Amino acid sequence: MAVGERAKIVGKMEKPNKPEKKRYYRKNIDFFKLVEKLKLWPSRNGTLHGIKSLKIIGNRAEIITHCNKRFIVYNSKNSRAARWLRNKWFYDVCGQCKIPRWKLEKYSSTFLNQRWGSNL
Ligand SMILES: [Zn+2]
Repeated sequence: MAVGERAKIVGKMEKPNKPEKKRYYRKNIDFFKLVEKLKLWPSRNGTLHGIKSLKIIGNRAEIITHCNKRFIVYNSKNSRAARWLRNKWFYDVCGQCKIPRWKLEKYSSTFLNQRWGSNL
């Protein structure tokens, strides 16, 4: 067997840099459940923070980030934060929260789908 051919076969067997497994959640998923799952919070100025704790109080939740910022948020799928989180919009990642790379990669491979995916 020629060396070139062999290289081709090996190339087929080894998957190059296996990408992060894609996760799908239902688009109509409860917003707090999604936040709890992602553990990420996009603040109003476009900085993505890591969530240290999430306390649900009725239709509101108190979010404490790793950099000790406190946010009171409403359970609304149509809020700015919900939209930003779904669309993965952020300008910056909080330096103080020290969000690990794998978490950001996991986030970037998470999709919300209208018709299928986990309801959590
Ligand atoms: Zn932060």
